[in-house]
Amino acid sequence: MLLALAVLAVLAVPQDTTVLRAATVLDGKGGVQHSVDILVVADRIVRITPRAPVPAGARLIDLGDRTVLPGLIDVHAHPSWYFNRQNRLHTASDGDTPAQAMLAAAANAYATLRAGFTTIQSVGSASDADLRDWIATQGLPGPRILTSLDPITDRRLSPDSLRAIVRQHKADGADLIKIFASGSIREGGQQTLSDSQLVAICGEAKALGLRTLVHAHSASSVRAATLAGCTEVEHGLFVTQDVLTLMAARGTYFDPQCALIFRNYLDNRAKYQGIGNYTDSGFAVMERMLPVAPQVIRTALATSGLKVVYGTDAVAGADGHNAEDLVCRVEQAGEAPMHAIMAATSLNAEALGRGNQIGAIAPGLEADIIAVDGDPLRDITAVRRVSFVMKAGQVVRF
Ligand SMILES: [Zn+2]
Repeated sequence: MLLALAVLAVLAVPQDTTVLRAATVLDGKGGVQHSVDILVVADRIVRITPRAPVPAGARLIDLGDRTVLPGLIDVHAHPSWYFNRQNRLHTASDGDTPAQAMLAAAANAYATLRAGFTTIQSVGSASDADLRDWIATQGLPGPRILTSLDPITDRRLSPDSLRAIVRQHKADGADLIKIFASGSIREGGQQTLSDSQLVAICGEAKALGLRTLVHAHSASSVRAATLAGCTEVEHGLFVTQDVLTLMAARGTYFDPQCALIFRNYLDNRAKYQGIGNYTDSGFAVMERMLPVAPQVIRTALATSGLKVVYGTDAVAGADGHNAEDLVCRVEQAGEAPMHAIMAATSLNAEALGRGNQIGAIAPGLEADIIAVDGDPLRDITAVRRVSFVMKAGQVVRF
């Protein structure tokens, strides 16, 4: 009798316990495990063990021969961009109400989550705060969102005014600061904010404990952002080797895009054409950049010590296709599949300052776990076939 009670005590598990049975687990940090059980209690991963009898009271989810990965992370997305019901890019003057725009953003967030992205960083919309909060606390299905709210772009402002804007963003609930240090690629990508303006913004943000993400294409704008101590540089299509080497030395994260952003614009050209800088010449530039983008990534990956994170810049039409740049980085930029997957999981988590919470399958972390059909180490296109998604212990796709 005592023995039986002891056995029961060992096997007893808390309510809300799930065992994920996995043939292959890529842990997000370069490790591979076979034939294991991942024990999840509530929103946390508790342990990973060799297959064992399922504890009494636990729910078993057998993932068969699928490959299990940490939930993917996209450090650069725009869920508030969408195509309106006239099949055009939504703009402030198209007649859609704020409620309609928010519903569209919610649909984008859901599509992103179903594609295996359990965390995204949304960089550039004030309405993201509500989207973030409703997902976090009100049951709206979507990825965990970190947001910059509005980006800082105004080149006429004094350093003091820029510092004040950073403090206001913090007060308004921004998780990070987004800055435009150069023009759009469709307008040449030359530096817009001065070196001293960047120093003011990134310095103030750092003092407040906020990370800074800097849109920058020209080598001078990337260099200025790096020297200003900004956290991460986006895009960088005209970056040079000496600037990449400087970024590596300074520990600046680099987030280049591979294909999705330009492919999506070109595939949806009629929905963008004629709005803002989506002109014939703008599209011509993007077409020219198709072969350049993977080459930038190839050069970045070959730069010793440079941390090349994973961000797609997903805009209207791209939500739910956020894994496409993994395919591009492997197939066109020559990145090893494991390395690319680590970029989109543990490295991205580190870049978000959340490496102890997300981005890996390890005890104590949030139970953000996905499964894909096939083996992405042999065929990276498996990341397009996400068939299971758990976010914070909740199954959202099975
Ligand atoms: Zn962007």
